[in-house]
Amino acid sequence: MALVTLNELFAADYAGAICGFDFVNLETVKAIMAGAEELGTPVILMVTEGGVKYAGLDYIAALGKVAAEKGKVPVALHLDHCTDFDLIIQAIKAGFTSVMIDASHLPFAENLKLTKEVVRVAHAAGVSVEAELGRIGGKEDNIQVKTAEAFMTDPEEAVEFVTATKVDCLAVAVGPSHGIYKGEPNLNLALLKRLKSVLDIPLVLHGGSGLPDAVVKEVVAIGVRKFNVWTELAVAHTDTIRAVLKEEPTLYDPRSLFKPTVEAMKAVVKSKILLTQA
Ligand SMILES: [Zn+2]
Repeated sequence: MALVTLNELFAADYAGAICGFDFVNLETVKAIMAGAEELGTPVILMVTEGGVKYAGLDYIAALGKVAAEKGKVPVALHLDHCTDFDLIIQAIKAGFTSVMIDASHLPFAENLKLTKEVVRVAHAAGVSVEAELGRIGGKEDNIQVKTAEAFMTDPEEAVEFVTATKVDCLAVAVGPSHGIYKGEPNLNLALLKRLKSVLDIPLVLHGGSGLPDAVVKEVVAIGVRKFNVWTELAVAHTDTIRAVLKEEPTLYDPRSLFKPTVEAMKAVVKSKILLTQA
């Protein structure tokens, strides 16, 4: 199938949230595609700025595009948490069908202005745009937000922001954070409900790793339409490598190392997709 945009995925008849998984290499993308194809569900392949730095934009874009072309389910190729306007332009040129401008570190007016500019160029190219309002805590790649710097999305600001920017979907900060949770994640579901009631665009929840199943089901029921997962995939990837090498310390063929790794990540992908279906 050809790549589709995030808007096309949202417009399709799919109940629940569509999972977005970050990928950094061939193994991650194979696991994501295999999981989505086994369940026959659409999926969002995401790349962070750190992923671009690690793999190179052309390599990583090619991986995503080939996965979509060969794939049996609809796929959007999404640039995740991008703070760099120039990289967004390059990603659009490289074939990404969706981009996230993360200007949440800037004051409200500047976030709005930069997001509006991204929407202008992305929409001209037929590409969907996600933005972030409020600040999601934790660490994702090169973006680290200390607990004291994180703040929740304000509903009134969100209405003003979405109306002015014409962004396609919004990442909201309602408590969950990136990375591995220390202690019980504390979600403000009342705020999420309020945001859902005042905004008529799809809402995105970041930091989807490690949330209790019941909480995930609740946020999907409230109306989250894009559910982002990275940390649990990364943990499955690296834990499996550790376990295989412990079992077989003299192993040297990387294929024997990565085959069980892909299987472990595929299991995470499938469990998240099943959990976020309505
Ligand atoms: Zn995120």
